[in-house]
Amino acid sequence: MTAKIIDGKAYAEGLRARIAGHVARLQREHDITPGLAVVIVGEDPASRIYVTNKAKQTAEVGMFSEKHELPASTSEAELLALIEHLNKNSKIHGILVQLPLPGHIDPNKVINAISPDKDVDCFTPASVGKLTIGLPGPVSCTPLGCLMLLRDQLGSLSGLNAVIVGRSNLVGKPMAQLLLRENCTVTIAHSRTKDLAEVVRRADIVVAAVGRPQMIKGDWIKPGATVIDVGINRVPAPERGEGRTRLVGDVDYESAALVAGAITPVPGGVGPMTIACLLANTVTTASLINGLTPPKDLTP
Ligand code: NAP
Repeated sequence: MTAKIIDGKAYAEGLRARIAGHVARLQREHDITPGLAVVIVGEDPASRIYVTNKAKQTAEVGMFSEKHELPASTSEAELLALIEHLNKNSKIHGILVQLPLPGHIDPNKVINAISPDKDVDCFTPASVGKLTIGLPGPVSCTPLGCLMLLRDQLGSLSGLNAVIVGRSNLVGKPMAQLLLRENCTVTIAHSRTKDLAEVVRRADIVVAAVGRPQMIKGDWIKPGATVIDVGINRVPAPERGEGRTRLVGDVDYESAALVAGAITPVPGGVGPMTIACLLANTVTTASLINGLTPPKDLTP
């Protein structure tokens, strides 16, 4: 069997077009322009590129976009004051603080300062609680993207065995909540799981969020399973020239694609969905803040 390639890039493009439609409707019918503020502290080049992309894509779907690039010397108090200001700003419906923060700033203090109503990354305890009990609100961006791809591929997920490898607050845990809501039977595996290959072999759906290049091999995959590879790992690629690198996932794509029914590539799978889902979340929070029901196709 050769797996169908799940094209996250194409799906994300379609999703952004739908988001642009919702933004135009909110403006036309309710005079609301969803607004997203992204905040970055420090000069890390990769994070700066990421934040610039977020701001660019926000503007492209017709939303209001604000970018705050602060020097690494910014104090915790200054950052908290900016967040307080953004919490009160009625043009802003989503606040994203790019992590990691410099060592002298406590990330938990900063995350907790974000109004749960504007928490488009779904990091605050209030947002995580809402996600867990199924109340409307923003949903962690990467897991939401994975869910959209799974639904598009499989339709109903009800009754399927899902194995998530990784239990981070960012990916593994919210992914488990979303798949549970879809009536999957969910197993969360982690670094202490015994016989991981055997556990993964039982899965109709595998979500890999480990951060270890090509760890999950083809012979761990149940024939026909759907494989969602969240991992983004840079590895040496001497075949491309001296000092060159390439991106790989947590799944050994070559061997897994021979067994799986469908699989996301890296790059071009889950990655493009994350920013698109951040925009989707901003439409959701803008709707909720204004007492409107969020668009069904942007929420779980
Ligand atoms: P993380 O916080 O480092 O968590 C990794 C998880 O993998 C942990 O729960 C850990 O278990 C588990 N793990 C580590 N080694 C393992 C092993 N040998 N066997 C089984 N489980 C093992 O990572 P993360 O933030 O969730 O990110 C995971 C990957 O996804 C990374 O490659 C990251 O770059 C990528 N990512 C991609 C996107 C995207 O937009 N595509 C977004 C976020 C993250 P313990 O809890 O027991 O330590």
